Amino acid sequence: MNTAPEVRLMQTTPRLEIRNLVRHFGGRAVVDDVSLSIQAGQVTCLLGPSGCGKSTILRIIAGVDMQDRGEIYVDGTLICDTRFRVPPEHREIGLMFQDFALFPHLSVGDNVGFGLKGNKDAKRARVEELLARVDLLRFIDGFPHQLSGGEQQRVALARSLAPKPRIMLMDEPFSGLDNRLRDGIRDETLSLLKEEDTAVLLVTHEPEEAMRMADEIALMRGGRIVQQGAPYNVYTRPVDHAAVAFFSDTN
Ligand code: ADP
Ligand code: MG
Repeated sequence: MNTAPEVRLMQTTPRLEIRNLVRHFGGRAVVDDVSLSIQAGQVTCLLGPSGCGKSTILRIIAGVDMQDRGEIYVDGTLICDTRFRVPPEHREIGLMFQDFALFPHLSVGDNVGFGLKGNKDAKRARVEELLARVDLLRFIDGFPHQLSGGEQQRVALARSLAPKPRIMLMDEPFSGLDNRLRDGIRDETLSLLKEEDTAVLLVTHEPEEAMRMADEIALMRGGRIVQQGAPYNVYTRPVDHAAVAFFSDTN
């Protein structure tokens, strides 16, 4: 039974849509005609080996790099093509990278509140809300060096989410963490992301992470998306032998 047309009609405008994105470095297409869309509340994983173009895509969406071709839409509005671009600070995008350090000289609370506008009480309320959600409210007046790596990571997540970004871009955010902590933090991060009305594009080279966190996986190779779908489908129906090899490689 083919239900695709009905499903398509029911869908709302994607929170994030990229169309036909191309980026060359030194004459080589590092991002080669990539299209994808993400609904609010959805986590999509860009999954692929090192060097396949994942971070370049995130940088272009964040507005710190520029595509050679293609367009980016947020809630149906064009924010960037080759002639026009909304500056990064006006894109309402949250970022979380592996080495996205907290400000060491600011308290935990001030770190979380750093990007917030508005009156003091509203800011304080949002900071407290988020710190409570990551179970670190007791550290609000403490400093980053007093926290463990995993706790700092949760503060960084709270900081990224504080301004209610429309889109969260996460580039291998857990790779600096101890193996023992990683699964727990992945699960916590996921539940926090799901409570916020944001679209998440999570970059990883680890199939296990994508399987655990994604609503949808976009499998990349050599600048292209070679397969896209629900984790179970991508895993159980690999598109080719290279995809099988990638999924069975335990790194
Ligand atoms: P990934 O995040 O999947 O590991 P990247 O997007 O970082 O991959 O890089 C994809 C390819 O583009 C790599 O071959 C990388 O060397 C190249 N590349 C990325 N940024 C630049 C740049 N600023 N100048 C030249 N080459 C780059
Ligand atoms: Mg990368």
